[in-house]
Amino acid sequence: MSGLNFTLSTTPSNNEPSGEGVQHERVIVIGSGPAGLTAALYTARATLNPLVIAGHELGGQIALTHEIENYPGFPEPLGGQELVDLMVAQAERFGARIKTFTAVSKVDFRNGSPFRIWTDDGGEYLADAVIVTVGATPRHLNVPGEEAFTGNGVSYCATCDGYFFRDKEVVVVGGGDSALEEALFLTRFASKVEIIHRRDQLRAGAALQKRARENEKIGFIWDTVVEEIMGDRAVNAVRLRNVKTGEVWEKPTDGIFIFIGHSPNTDLFEGQLERDSFGYIITDHEMRTNVDGVFAAGEAQDRIFRQVSTSVGQGAAAGIMVERWLAGHGE
Ligand code: NAP
Repeated sequence: MSGLNFTLSTTPSNNEPSGEGVQHERVIVIGSGPAGLTAALYTARATLNPLVIAGHELGGQIALTHEIENYPGFPEPLGGQELVDLMVAQAERFGARIKTFTAVSKVDFRNGSPFRIWTDDGGEYLADAVIVTVGATPRHLNVPGEEAFTGNGVSYCATCDGYFFRDKEVVVVGGGDSALEEALFLTRFASKVEIIHRRDQLRAGAALQKRARENEKIGFIWDTVVEEIMGDRAVNAVRLRNVKTGEVWEKPTDGIFIFIGHSPNTDLFEGQLERDSFGYIITDHEMRTNVDGVFAAGEAQDRIFRQVSTSVGQGAAAGIMVERWLAGHGE
């Protein structure tokens, strides 16, 4: 852990503006996915009255997930938005305050606690402790046409856009759990879904593989990468290359759904928190970052598990640690 000087605020942190419009909080949670909402629940139950700066997408990635089948306690598939609503209600019941449609634009953690945080609505805050749960964003292919046709046939969210592809033919890129899960979801709308994977073996788990292989609407294009996304006003084809034979061809399609993993949303913390070479915030097993009093949880720091249930666990751990940390520093 860092040897940064620790100076706890002597100003009362009862959410009062602390002069010049700066609001002083005991705990600020940055982000509102499963990790953030759980950290809010735990710190709220510890009577710390946390403020959650939710970002522009309350609930994060699960809010855009059609169904969640592997979150314990819910034997029937649960809508992603439904789970977000339940988590918000539970955290609010114990006093968490959730600031929606607002994102953190800048932080200054370098002088220790209280930490300084700015938001994109012009707000400025001090926080005795911070929990960073900013999550991750779908990775892009970075091929010609991808950016130009995003929203016009290029999508990273089947739940959001699948409906527009009723009776159309689409391709899905990727071979992991997300690609297969979203491909299965797309079969509700599309007449045909072809999964383009750069290898001849899927990374996805066995259960999803079985369901995808057994689905008559789903086909596979193996050992193949997308080189270009083409169209006029919207996507009408993709240029593909077989990585083994070198063959290049154009495949007509109405849409392309890209699920090739995620990148953590941690650019904001460059020079403030230690990150690994992929950009994930480095924490110890007690969710501590290299800055004393700043904790991180969920997909911003976890590049291995990335489940709702693991993010919830990490958020709970961060909440517990913040409570102990504040208690240990006289709060
Ligand atoms: P992932 O497991 O990292 O899989 C990414 C896939 O995209 C891989 O098949 C990879 O190919 C391919 N890929 C990566 N970069 C590519 C590129 N530039 N061009 C073409 N293909 C590329 O990501 P994910 O599917 O989003 O899953 C992330 C995590 O969430 C995993 O831990 C997963 O288990 C979890 N998850 C779980 C569920 C569930 O349990 N129901 C659902 C969704 C996600 P290679 O295989 O060749 O590397």
